[in-house]
Amino acid sequence: MRANRRRFLLGAAATMTIVGATRAAPRPRLVVVGGGPGGATAARYAALLGRGKIEVTLVEPSPTYATCFFSNLYLGGLRGWDSLVHDYRALGSSNALKVVPLAAARIDRDGMTVVLEDGAMLGFDRLIMAPGIDLNYGSVPGYSEAAAEAMPHAWKAGPQTKLLKAKLDAVPDGGLIIMVAPPNPYRCPPGPYERVSMMAHALRSAGKPSARIVILDPKDKFSKMGLFQEGWERRYPGVVEWQDPTIHGGIKGVDPATMTVTTDFEARRADLVNVIPAQTAGRIAREAGLSNVTGYCPVDPASMRSTVDPSIFVVGDASIAGDMPKSAFAANSQAKTAVLAVLSDLAGAPAFPAHYESTCWSMITPTDCVKVDGVYEAAEGKIKEIRGFVSDTGEPDAIRRRNVDEASAWYDAMIADVFGSPST
Ligand code: FAD
Repeated sequence: MRANRRRFLLGAAATMTIVGATRAAPRPRLVVVGGGPGGATAARYAALLGRGKIEVTLVEPSPTYATCFFSNLYLGGLRGWDSLVHDYRALGSSNALKVVPLAAARIDRDGMTVVLEDGAMLGFDRLIMAPGIDLNYGSVPGYSEAAAEAMPHAWKAGPQTKLLKAKLDAVPDGGLIIMVAPPNPYRCPPGPYERVSMMAHALRSAGKPSARIVILDPKDKFSKMGLFQEGWERRYPGVVEWQDPTIHGGIKGVDPATMTVTTDFEARRADLVNVIPAQTAGRIAREAGLSNVTGYCPVDPASMRSTVDPSIFVVGDASIAGDMPKSAFAANSQAKTAVLAVLSDLAGAPAFPAHYESTCWSMITPTDCVKVDGVYEAAEGKIKEIRGFVSDTGEPDAIRRRNVDEASAWYDAMIADVFGSPST
């Protein structure tokens, strides 16, 4: 604790050197690890609002970022793959911001250094961690990274998403799809159920009326449950079956060699198995000692500052963000709060109360979209929802169609806000 305090004050000392500093004086350094909606937003806004007073470095190994958000629409045949892929060119063009195309191998918290995969070291005065999630393959017996080639998870967008689509397109009429849904807390609470809706749409569009989808869920309820169940009954009657633990009795395991899923009740062979395992914060954050027993990283709800290390902030899916869902919208909102706190630490900028938002649209059909949104503040020791909205069941079709347009506009605006400008 004392070491943390000493290092934190070292950061504050850097503050004093920059407020009113000459151009030649060394600038305080912010390093951001991870270039998704959390990290790229943080880097972009820190460079923008820091106005050259701080040095911002974004560490991200991949030259492009494929969005999980809207990947279900790709599965449903509503969007092309290329529309989901974006790059960092617009971000890296500013001299206030450097993009390092390497993975962070290790965080040396005592040395306030990020060690890169090639052994180079980046010192920091403040660090924002946004590495997203890791999949806990072992949470489903028989599942593994290798098994994901036969039974894709597609919970990180990329080759897995394309593989899932190819397998979906190959399901015959009369075939069976089984989804093993994840336990809480996981990335994108309505995501599995939107995915099932888009799979049902793809089956129907391909003229496969007798194919079926069974969801084996370790949970007894899920996000927007009434809306999805109403949608499935109305739009895809007889196609989707949701089983909670009282029905399947427990998911005992999967066998990729025989494409079988075993529950307490039965063993079933399927044409396509989509296993979405349990999740944790990305490895780099856990190995830095920033996570707790949940596998995610606790933060101060007013700033997204790690409760473990005051020089480090954690945003996006890797963080424990109270009532907020693990969504791209949430990661983008949390990143802005973290940046203001960093600027307050390093550049003497005034801080003001944190305010967060997230809206999440889910497609049931190409013209039927439902949404949930929330506004959040730091209260009662957590990020607490202070206002929320959920679509109604039985809503007029016109409202659902308007939601489709809203969702599409949100995607474009989010990409521009995260990466600087649409780059595809
Ligand atoms: P990520 O997006 O995972 O980004 C993390 C980045 O960190 C990656 O680019 C990775 O390469 C990098 N990284 C990891 N480790 C290292 C390292 N050691 N060094 C350097 N870089 C590293 N959200 C919505 O808001 N709306 C939606 O409609 C929506 N739909 C979804 C549908 C699906 C099917 C899924 C799976 C998710 C959906 N989401 C949606 C959720 C959304 O995708 C995530 O919440 C969001 O991507 C989290 O952003 P992040 O920046 O925390 O992590």
